[in-house]
Amino acid sequence: METMSSTPQSQQWFDRAVQVSPGGVNSPVRAFRAVGGTPRFMTSAQGAWLHDADGTRYLDLVGSWGPMLLGHAHPEVIAAVTEAASRGTSFGTPSPPEVELAEEIVARTPVDLVRMVTSGTEATMSAIRLARGFTGRTRVVKFAGCYHGHVDSLLAEAGSGVVTLGLPGSPGIPAHVTADTIVLPYNDRDAVTAAFAEHGDEIACVITEAAAGNMGVVSPLPGFNQFLSETCAAHGALLVSDEVMTGFRVTRSGHWGLDGAQEGWRPDLLTFGKVMGGGFPAAAFGGRADVMALLAPSGPVYQAGTLAGNPVASTAGLTTLRLADDAAYARLDDWSAQARALVSSALDDAGVPHVVQNVGSMFSVVWGLTEPVHDFAGVQRQETHRYTAFFHAMLDAGVYLPPSAYESWFVSAAHDDEALTRMAEALPAAARAAA
Ligand code: PLP
Repeated sequence: METMSSTPQSQQWFDRAVQVSPGGVNSPVRAFRAVGGTPRFMTSAQGAWLHDADGTRYLDLVGSWGPMLLGHAHPEVIAAVTEAASRGTSFGTPSPPEVELAEEIVARTPVDLVRMVTSGTEATMSAIRLARGFTGRTRVVKFAGCYHGHVDSLLAEAGSGVVTLGLPGSPGIPAHVTADTIVLPYNDRDAVTAAFAEHGDEIACVITEAAAGNMGVVSPLPGFNQFLSETCAAHGALLVSDEVMTGFRVTRSGHWGLDGAQEGWRPDLLTFGKVMGGGFPAAAFGGRADVMALLAPSGPVYQAGTLAGNPVASTAGLTTLRLADDAAYARLDDWSAQARALVSSALDDAGVPHVVQNVGSMFSVVWGLTEPVHDFAGVQRQETHRYTAFFHAMLDAGVYLPPSAYESWFVSAAHDDEALTRMAEALPAAARAAA
């Protein structure tokens, strides 16, 4: 389905892009494959708003897929980054901003030591290597519908763009590479218990999203993360909590439960990305001191990066985290709650069966169902054609949503009353389109 909006400039850029890049994009989730139409080429962004090459202004509910916690082009972040860049963009030596960012992460999370990398994919890939190095075991447990980046061994029944494109995995990943990956249904304690009963002494780690956001939003059932933590500990395996998406957005300073519901669980390793880079390519993994000590150069598990801990990216992340105070989180949560209520009531008015699922401020809609879903199989029962119609109607009304029903919607601390008004104006027609 093509949108009615006029998009000649985006169309021209897309025509050029497909000549030089596969599918015209540099990450599959940016394509409009599932919903149809021309991806919008954005040329600037400010606060909660995106501006495309045709001069159209959109309320942004993608937030660069999560990093833009404070909104786009926050003046203090831009000033800090500009100042940092003016002193040089990469030294290939240690530099102060990466230390300050690491200190901030250590102060705000359960990690003792942290290593900077440049993408969430690198973070999870390295965490898995470290878990295998530490335990001397090879098997890894992951959950269907969770996405941990495009790491070979983790691209099995993955969420995000993999499910959007309907792929079971990816050609190019030899079967023996995923042979050591055990894929289980999310939130299924019995399946975890059975896997450990069969392979307990071979499992290096369980990797899970702290709350799933890559099959749409699916919360861990109360106590599930704690159960994973205890099960891993009982079998000498490590728990890797992938917080690339949730870190510093849902899981944040001062507590390490999700919505306060799961105090007490303690992952051995954690991965971060998105928010901690403040819109720049920065990510990290960290955890227990005795595990992290195995990393080169203090230990033998090798891992490295030319641009890791980059001073400009670290400055962006550090400034963002310092500005992410309780007031910012309160604004984020409040706006998200109001937006969820607007979405739900518009869909009710239009008679569209739906469930709005959220964890903290992250949310998404399950289309055509009326009961909350707790796993990938549940999410896949939804009626995605409703989202396609809804997505285009929202886009036509100036609201930019993720171009897939299997993605979280992200809000920022810059989402304000004007943004809510845009939602309120756009929603009734979009809800009717989804009916
Ligand atoms: N882990 C999770 C939970 C993610 O959501 C993502 C990306 O969306 C990644 C890992 C991979 O991060 P990146 O895209 O920076 O490689």
